[in-house]
Amino acid sequence: MGFEKTLIIIKPDAVVRGLVGRIIQRLEDKGLKIVATKMLKIDEDTAREHYSEHVGKSFFESLIKYITSSPSIFIVIEGKNAIEVTRSLLGDTDPKDALPGTIRGDLGLGKGNAIHNVVHASDSPESAKKEIKLFFSEDEIHEYERADDWYHREY
Ligand code: AMP
Repeated sequence: MGFEKTLIIIKPDAVVRGLVGRIIQRLEDKGLKIVATKMLKIDEDTAREHYSEHVGKSFFESLIKYITSSPSIFIVIEGKNAIEVTRSLLGDTDPKDALPGTIRGDLGLGKGNAIHNVVHASDSPESAKKEIKLFFSEDEIHEYERADDWYHREY
């Protein structure tokens, strides 16, 4: 594992609750680098494609309503082992089970038929690639050095 990019979505429940700043803060505090960001309300077709693996599940239609209900913040994060690191920062899918100290564990209770769980992160290199492509064009993704890129030197 090395440097990876992953997609974070700060979901509608977090946006309407005013949690955006706190979530971004946690990602930045960890040493992860924001290389792209935008706000948009996901349209239904894109939502169905993004969550295609859940088609047919009992919560699928609720999930589409939830994720299209108001705008979300989309962030491409880059960092060493970024996929695994962001998943562990998020905590369990259901915030009621997520440990204190994780984003979901601290910031939500997970209401809804499709669990409202504040934030999404890609779960594998394949899904990160697919999901980033769904929401960003190549020229929207930036390259720059964070002051603490020093942290990633190999010695
Ligand atoms: P995932 O692909 O695991 O990120 O799941 C997508 C989203 O679907 C989650 O973030 C939840 O909002 C919802 N979800 C996943 N699993 C369940 C479940 N068992 N019951 C209800 N909602 C779920």
